[in-house]
Amino acid sequence: MGEPESAKYGHSRDIAVPQEVIHLWDTRVVSVLERITDGFVALDQQWRYVYVNHQTEQLLGRRREDLLGKNIWDVYPEEIGTLFYQKYHEAMDTQQPDEFEIFYPQRWYAVHIYPSPEGLSLFYTDITQHKQAEEQLLFNASVAQSITDAVIATDMQNRILSWNKAAETLYGWKEEEVLGKDASVILLTDFPNNPHRQWEEQLQTTGFWKGEAIQRCKDGTSVHILASVSLVKNRAGEILGAVAANRDITEQKELEKRKDEFIEMASHELKTPVTALKGHIQLLQRTFEKQGMREYAQSLATMGRQINKLTKLVEELVDVSTMQTGKIDYTKEPFDFDTRIRDIIDNLQQASPHHTISITGTANNKVIGDKDQLEQVFINLVTNAVKYSPDADRVDVALVIDQDTMTVSVRDYGVGIPKEHQSNIFDRFYRVSPFSDNAYPGLGMGLYISYEIVKAHGGKMWVESVEGKGSIFYVSLPHTILLPARGDVPKV
Ligand code: ADP
Repeated sequence: MGEPESAKYGHSRDIAVPQEVIHLWDTRVVSVLERITDGFVALDQQWRYVYVNHQTEQLLGRRREDLLGKNIWDVYPEEIGTLFYQKYHEAMDTQQPDEFEIFYPQRWYAVHIYPSPEGLSLFYTDITQHKQAEEQLLFNASVAQSITDAVIATDMQNRILSWNKAAETLYGWKEEEVLGKDASVILLTDFPNNPHRQWEEQLQTTGFWKGEAIQRCKDGTSVHILASVSLVKNRAGEILGAVAANRDITEQKELEKRKDEFIEMASHELKTPVTALKGHIQLLQRTFEKQGMREYAQSLATMGRQINKLTKLVEELVDVSTMQTGKIDYTKEPFDFDTRIRDIIDNLQQASPHHTISITGTANNKVIGDKDQLEQVFINLVTNAVKYSPDADRVDVALVIDQDTMTVSVRDYGVGIPKEHQSNIFDRFYRVSPFSDNAYPGLGMGLYISYEIVKAHGGKMWVESVEGKGSIFYVSLPHTILLPARGDVPKV
């Protein structure tokens, strides 16, 4: 009969340790070795296992009774010649401690070797998690490095934490020159379209901001960039910093500038001959009418209508380029809004026999503003409503006055505007369908001009639309530009 199980084992707290080990090793040492989270193995000079801790049993998936007293290379002949084999032999020969990292069999370990005249002590630390994190970092870093946008990460104090190769190329600063420095000092960023630092507000509230900026390079030159900035948060939702991906759009901006200059010059060059032509056609038309030459007079009337279209186009081009440079002048004087809007609708009704254009509500106020420019806004909106609803037969205009504003809405029952286009239609030259589309000819200037005019009057303009159902365009003007129609006391 063999010994009872309990006699074969000593106990290091709750872990059973074979008696032969307990004999050789001090119980306090055993207690420590059994408790550490590292694997521990001791080999004697003949490469025999003299100690295998509990953690190693787990790691190797073998009971220590099967290992103790056996030669490691007999147990693991397949390891002869491997890194383990080389390192252990080197340490045994030189009696120098050593360490190395190894992937075995499915996890990463850091192996520490401590040689002594008795043999080798080996510690194995599982570093898989650490390795994975390191690899993830390496991967992220190489992703950032291979991106052609300048990628810059900053901490909460706006200090630069990372700066990829594209950032080095774009700004001329090397990574080591800028790490830890204040990004705003290095890049001296200016936000031309965001004078009130709305970008910061948006970044704080939504966690993201995309827009244009001008930044300074190391050599003092400037680059125009399109920046996409995101806040970086930890799992608890606390902000750790921000990452910006900046694309150089300097060339594109130069091109746009040249295009704008060309449009400005061309539209001004066109204006003089078109105005002269218009004047001469009117003169000739009147002369032919007086002389009873009706056929000629009619031809000239047709020419006159075409010239009017051309004039409108040229005027819009002039407006667009003047607005772009911010040089437009608005004459602000009081005018009777109700009369003007009804006149506009009467005129457009005559030119649009297939639609009934109705108007409800009254402004009951005079508006202090640029009469011609504001008229242009409503002409654009009603003309568009008719143009983009060829299969419908009505357009509804409504005026609503409330405490703070006067709102005019223009509603059609036409093609509508797809959602993804709705935020862009007030942009310069923006069209939902391509310019080549003959179904709805246009140049995408009307809404941009209207938006700028309304903005210059302190008002707002927006659209609600459902594709295939129709659109409602709204213009709201602030009470500060309204005067009661009767009496001259400003409405406050
Ligand atoms: P356009 O001369 O092209 O009509 P606008 O600036 O007036 O230029 O309008 C810009 C774009 O907005 C148009 O190309 C059209 O796609 C869209 N749009 C404007 N008004 C309407 C409307 N009432 N219904 C549907 N789409 C519209």
